[in-house]
Amino acid sequence: MNQFESVKAAVNLRQAAEHYGLTVSRNGMTCCPFHKDQHPSMKLNEDYFYCFGCGASGDVIDFTSRLFGLSPYAAVRKLKTDFGIGAEHEPLPFPIYAEPPRDRERLCICVLRDYLRHLRIWQLRYRPEEPGDPIHPRFAEAMKALPTVNHLLDCLLGNDLLLARQTAEALCREGHIRQLSEYLKILSEKERECA
Ligand SMILES: [Zn+2]
Repeated sequence: MNQFESVKAAVNLRQAAEHYGLTVSRNGMTCCPFHKDQHPSMKLNEDYFYCFGCGASGDVIDFTSRLFGLSPYAAVRKLKTDFGIGAEHEPLPFPIYAEPPRDRERLCICVLRDYLRHLRIWQLRYRPEEPGDPIHPRFAEAMKALPTVNHLLDCLLGNDLLLARQTAEALCREGHIRQLSEYLKILSEKERECA
């Protein structure tokens, strides 16, 4: 089995969608993250998805690559990391709030990834359709924060270990990560109320 096949065998669409923050009904329907979807029009089957609204379809790797703007190969790597497939290390708790690990870098990466997931969903969901449309505050927040969040994750996940350590230290020392994780906690409580 190559790694594409082993990822597909290990993670089904529903697991991936829920892991990345989508709410999935018992019959496998969810709001499509790839178009402005008010009512669930995407069906998640065991091994493929299909959106009745915009026609998006594919397997769990296509889904992940499109959701996060990654190449298929990078999407495979992400799924392997997030679900602990074929790796010696534990899957990253996603998101973690209750017991922040001692490891600051890991905490920062988890919190920033969770925020990134919200921002990417907002960027798609609240995108203005016409040039004159009012800008939704969530869309504005996504456009403003995405470059910074991506840059911080690059620093934390890059090969420069000193830079990663200093970035994490600064984020924790100045309280940014604590504030962000409180903000995310409120967001996910709101999401649960809406679900
Ligand atoms: Zn769609």
